[in-house]
Amino acid sequence: MKLSSVAYSAAMFVAASVLLASAQTPTPSQPQAPAVAQPAAVDDPVRMLVGRLDLERYKATIKGLTQFGDRRQGTDRNRAATDWIETQLKSYGCTPTERIKYEYQPAPRAAGSGGAAAVGRGAAGATGAAGGAAAPTGGRAGATGATAAAGGTAAAPAAQGRGGRGGGNPPKGNRGPTGVNNDPMKQPDLKVRELDMQPTTPGPREQVYCTKIGTTHPEEMYIIGAHMDGLGYAEAANDNGSGTALVMELARIFSAPNVQTDRSIRFILWNNEETGLNGAHAYVDQRRERQGKEDPPGSGKYPEPKWLGMIQHDMMLFDHGMPRADGTLSPEQRPEADVNVEFAGTAKMAAEAQALAWQLRASNDRYATDYPVTVGNRMSNTDSVPFQDYTAAVSLREAERGSQVGSGWDPSWHTPIDMFATFSDKDFRLGLNAAQTTLAAVAQLAGATIK
Ligand SMILES: [Zn+2]
Repeated sequence: MKLSSVAYSAAMFVAASVLLASAQTPTPSQPQAPAVAQPAAVDDPVRMLVGRLDLERYKATIKGLTQFGDRRQGTDRNRAATDWIETQLKSYGCTPTERIKYEYQPAPRAAGSGGAAAVGRGAAGATGAAGGAAAPTGGRAGATGATAAAGGTAAAPAAQGRGGRGGGNPPKGNRGPTGVNNDPMKQPDLKVRELDMQPTTPGPREQVYCTKIGTTHPEEMYIIGAHMDGLGYAEAANDNGSGTALVMELARIFSAPNVQTDRSIRFILWNNEETGLNGAHAYVDQRRERQGKEDPPGSGKYPEPKWLGMIQHDMMLFDHGMPRADGTLSPEQRPEADVNVEFAGTAKMAAEAQALAWQLRASNDRYATDYPVTVGNRMSNTDSVPFQDYTAAVSLREAERGSQVGSGWDPSWHTPIDMFATFSDKDFRLGLNAAQTTLAAVAQLAGATIK
């Protein structure tokens, strides 16, 4: 046994050396063909719905979002993107569309860091008893760093906080650079630079959603979310056109006229994620107490169905592995790329959230075509955090937010290269697999059938 394992190790070492030596040459492509539906499952409505997802259509929706540049909150390009998203949702039959309105007034930079959490809450115009009150320290620190930094109108957020690690796990292995690009002149594409030029200003904010009403339990719902605002003077293609398009594609598929669900599903595109989850905090603050209430009484209408779960999507495309020792990345999606599903182990609803995470993995096992799910317990720095003490809240991401994205695994994060053209079909396919995963899980949880 010992000898053979030594021989095995030596063989692996040689193989690894060969791979490293040829790191710049194209690697053999992975199987790209969609999984073929098994004959026994032809009438499985979940498989039929998953089959309505399409790589080219997903890419086209991301491309559509990139026409509004980085969609930074508090700008005309952000408002135009919200209008465009609403038009698309209506065209899918996901009606009526509605908007959550709130005020974003970033507080001036705090003299000390001690008041940072209060700054974040104040900016959301919210009450003290917020959903994110018990958020992991890392998550809160990241969010407030951005909020404090976004206080100026012309000055862009400082790198601290945004480039920070979340989730509280200690760093291991190689790291690459992180941080927010604050300089529009670093965008080499002149058209995109011009598109992103208008500075953000404080004031009223809106975010759009639509709801698929359940036929037998309209008073209960799953929430599927992604933030549509971005940063960094590019096209915010990955952060977060990739998550926004995923939510829109699911809205399209669930809204087809012959699709029914027992329970309701809400599709929401958050604003102000990048300034500290302000849009999601506003939603929780405005809607938490209204859950499950029939309004008006006897109408059979539930403006805010009871939350059964909240599934968030950020940065769905890029999983090229750990940076090399010199900080550079592989040019290719790594073959072992995965969709990272995270819940907050510290949340009051951690047990429920963990159960939802495993349901997503089981759905991925059965219905996704290319990339697996990995589950972790360190959800942070995302719009599901304000929900985590009230319902089962999870996030899907290209890599772990804390240990991986926070350590520089994605060089496009908040930088001028977050452009549609940066990503390959293998990258886009990771996002498609996340879409397959959430669609399959929610189709089962909400009780979807096709007439
Ligand atoms: Zn971001």
